[in-house]
Amino acid sequence: LGPSVQSDQPAGDAVRMDPFADTLRRLREAFSAGRTRPAEFRAAQLRGLGRFLQEHKQLLQEALAQDLHKSAFESEVSEISITQSEINLALRNLRAWMKDEKVPKNLATQLDSAFIRKEPFGLVLVIAPWNYPVNLTLVPLVGALAAGNCVVLKPSEFSRSTEKVLAEVLPRYVDQSCFAVVPGGPQETGQLLEHKFDYIFFTGSPRVGRIVMSAAAKHLTPVTLELGGKNPCYVDDDCDPQTVANRLAWFRYFNTGQTCVAPDYVLCSPDTQERLLPALQSAITRFYGEDPRSSPNLGRIISDKHFQRLRGLLGCGRVAIGGQSDESERYIAPTVLVDVEETEPVMQEEIFGPILPIVNVRSLDEAIDFINRREKPLALYAFSNNKQVVKRVLAQTSSGSFCGNDGFMHLTLDSLPFGGVGASGMGSYHGKFSFDTFSHHRACLLRCPGMEKIYSIRYPPYSPRKLRVL
Ligand code: NAD
Repeated sequence: LGPSVQSDQPAGDAVRMDPFADTLRRLREAFSAGRTRPAEFRAAQLRGLGRFLQEHKQLLQEALAQDLHKSAFESEVSEISITQSEINLALRNLRAWMKDEKVPKNLATQLDSAFIRKEPFGLVLVIAPWNYPVNLTLVPLVGALAAGNCVVLKPSEFSRSTEKVLAEVLPRYVDQSCFAVVPGGPQETGQLLEHKFDYIFFTGSPRVGRIVMSAAAKHLTPVTLELGGKNPCYVDDDCDPQTVANRLAWFRYFNTGQTCVAPDYVLCSPDTQERLLPALQSAITRFYGEDPRSSPNLGRIISDKHFQRLRGLLGCGRVAIGGQSDESERYIAPTVLVDVEETEPVMQEEIFGPILPIVNVRSLDEAIDFINRREKPLALYAFSNNKQVVKRVLAQTSSGSFCGNDGFMHLTLDSLPFGGVGASGMGSYHGKFSFDTFSHHRACLLRCPGMEKIYSIRYPPYSPRKLRVL
């Protein structure tokens, strides 16, 4: 087998109809033979993944620059080093995570052994999006390998250069009897999904999440769905506008706004909006210069389709900052929209680009009501100098994650689970949560073979005396 599995193999009809059958059979055989179970094997795969990252850092950075015009800084912070820390954490804790977890016992099982065993599921499929094409492909892979699974990796076809590196170079660093990369788009993913997997980990849009979940349901395959949506950001009157604007601008325009946890829109009073606008303008100018188009720190939109969609959204409300675009390089300036109506497209769909609408609310209650009338978001943010305000937003809403007084800094903590709730997804990962996600938690009780006389009290014929003893 080659380093990656292409679906257009020039072979007989059977292979053409089911191009992945041989690969999946090979991976299943390796799993059944117990190849991926030993801790040493898992650690070797993780070390291989680490070597891949380090030895090909520059190649990955170049690919990310080609795909997204991503700066070396953003590539390092949000793609490479974050993946490397996940690998390091898994390597440090692998044996502890794999250990059987002893559980409390009752009177009837005092002489027995009761524990939870973390078992690999078997053959797992990881499907990734294009916006953080290294991080969102490899961080789940770390969890899947650490948990002892065989893995089929399906990167996004949109981040073409990164997909190529992952398909052509990565397999040299991971045991190929247990691992395969499948490049391609909906057609290849659809063909893969016809097969039975033991677990599917999907990151992407709610639309495709539904397709994946329906396909998984046919085989009763469990899934994690890491989806998107509209993340609200409440800004209280009691705040320092420049501090809020710096943080808001950084995490809205990071990766050109193509971030699932970026704040999708701001909720604040008209007064706060007036104080926030010059502060946002100042932050944008300091970060990206007078002409953001020439800034090496601002990326580009991934595809023509997304560019056209985003350019359409620039027509909503009124442009207060930015608003320029250039189709030839898929450039959209860091933009702030005001006077936006709830019914306009920019407030109906996930923006996923460098556009930040501000919606006015008259009070904290109205903001909370606005948030709760919509689907539960992946992330929710609240800025206020008043801790009680932040705590109220936290207490009276629901979201996959929450961060008070900053952007996605909570993602830097591998001690926190990362995942959605409701329409923003199900399941979570990062750190030990990844290991647990990719492990079946098997309930085990090893009974003592003797003591039959005492245990026989449970057998029929039942009598009032036996009932009293219970
Ligand atoms: P997408 O759903 O279009 O694609 C994701 C993956 O699914 C890709 O690998 C793609 O090839 C595959 N795919 C696309 N259409 C398919 C089909 N019809 N059948 C089977 N597979 C198909 O998502 P995207 O555009 O790559 O990424 C953007 C979306 O992902 C946004 O909604 C964003 O919020 C979300 N996202 C979520 C997270 C998270 O961690 N929760 C992270 C990043 C992105």
